[in-house]
Amino acid sequence: MSHVIEQLDKYAKELVASGLVVGAGGNLSMRDGDYMYISPSGYDLKEIKKEEWVKVHIISGEVYGSIKPSSELLMHLACFRENEEITAVLHAHPTYSVSVSSTGKEIPALFPDFPAMVKDVAYIDYVIPTTELLANEVANHAQKAQVMVLRNHGVITLGKTMNEGSLFFYAINRGISEGFCH
Ligand code: 13P
Ligand code: ZN
Repeated sequence: MSHVIEQLDKYAKELVASGLVVGAGGNLSMRDGDYMYISPSGYDLKEIKKEEWVKVHIISGEVYGSIKPSSELLMHLACFRENEEITAVLHAHPTYSVSVSSTGKEIPALFPDFPAMVKDVAYIDYVIPTTELLANEVANHAQKAQVMVLRNHGVITLGKTMNEGSLFFYAINRGISEGFCH
């Protein structure tokens, strides 16, 4: 199994175990040279088999194989096209970040590790999910933001490594959820 698929498999399972992703409410992808691998659409992230990750050519957008890639394919492609340093993109619909941001507010930093780790958070007002319009909005921020909060939808994080992308994801969601839960 390739390193990229191994990483995707590991971090997809971790995301579900974290409780921040329920069922098919999320997707993740990783760069592999000129290609990326992305989760298939509508799958429970912890159930994806190694051969079910969908290969896509980053520049042309050509999809390989017969499995339908995530419906947020354009959003993931936009990140990899706009920022060459990025190798991992994660997206999901975590309740607390979406609730707070959907009131029009920004997510407060409750812990010092949040601003220390995440330097730039972009807030994007609601755009219909899965659309080119959303992908264009995301493209506008992809060179700078490590985290994008999509109001009334979800969160997207961009990492130089999969580990970094997932840390950003936990940092923004932990900062808020622990504040609310305790
Ligand atoms: P997919 O199951 O197609 O990846 O869609 C989930 C999602 O996040 C839509 O915004
Ligand atoms: Zn979504």
